[in-house]
Amino acid sequence: MTAIPDIMLSNGQNIPQLGFGVFLVKPEDTVAAVSTALEAGYRHIDTAEMYGNEAEVGEAISRSGLNRSDVFVTSKLANDAHEPDDARRAFDESLKALGFDYLDLFLIHWPLPTRYDGDYVSTWNTLEEFYRDGRARSIGVSNFQPRHLRRLHTESDIPPAIDQIEVNPYLTQDELRGFCAEHQTAIEAWSPLGRGNVLGDPTIEAIARRVGKTPAQVVLRWHIERGDIIFPKSVTPERIRENIEIFDFELPAADVGAISALNRNERTGPDPDKFDGR
Ligand code: NAD
Repeated sequence: MTAIPDIMLSNGQNIPQLGFGVFLVKPEDTVAAVSTALEAGYRHIDTAEMYGNEAEVGEAISRSGLNRSDVFVTSKLANDAHEPDDARRAFDESLKALGFDYLDLFLIHWPLPTRYDGDYVSTWNTLEEFYRDGRARSIGVSNFQPRHLRRLHTESDIPPAIDQIEVNPYLTQDELRGFCAEHQTAIEAWSPLGRGNVLGDPTIEAIARRVGKTPAQVVLRWHIERGDIIFPKSVTPERIRENIEIFDFELPAADVGAISALNRNERTGPDPDKFDGR
């Protein structure tokens, strides 16, 4: 396996460009799935309080024998914990569940602009505390639109290092990616395979046949060529290993363009401007 490249964030921290996501991985399956991923060479795990499997992620990392510093771990603030005191408690609980004394990255999971009087800024200010006291090495947001990011830029001190947003060949998010590029905010592309929906696309299948890779590998490589950070999810060991074998080939610009041209602005998840987290 060729090494997974790091992306340097605006605060100087490095994050492996490919990781392993555990959304909808049942707690009882999580230790096995994360262990398989670590054995295959993944060194970046994306979880969240709302996934209900932080304890099992921590257990798999502890059982692996790797040093804590060898694995980049992200968690996210639950939607019902945006009030500053709730956020402080939730952050402590995430650390406790994982068995860690720091997180590599902590994110506000959703902006929830229709809740908490539209105040995600004081939630962000609370994450700034975790960054300043060193218990979150980097802080960022998820599902924030340009207008939400703009408020953080104008009303707080520390800019988000990352925006984790839904991106796949049917939802290329060019405007939001452009805004983040201008502001040195790295993009994490969640559901990078469109939860499997894009894998039967004829354009993707044709490229996969030509380059001798699977459709999943072609889509993941397309994200890598565009510079986004990804963490595909699978509980199937063969697929976990397949999804990391994407650093021994490149996609020519014409293929990257052909896949980007499949955009339909089609979400699989909620609209961040409307979603109230309930
Ligand atoms: P994904 O795009 O990674 O797709 C996962 C599905 O694709 C699997 O369940 C499987 O059915 C299929 N699959 C995986 N590998 C395959 C392969 N090699 N061949 C064929 N099919 C394959 O979707 P996801 O799990 O929703 O997203 C990945 C991660 O993104 C999550 O685990 C989570 O960490 C993160 N996420 C974040 C948010 C957010 O709001 N921040 C929302 C959703 C997901």
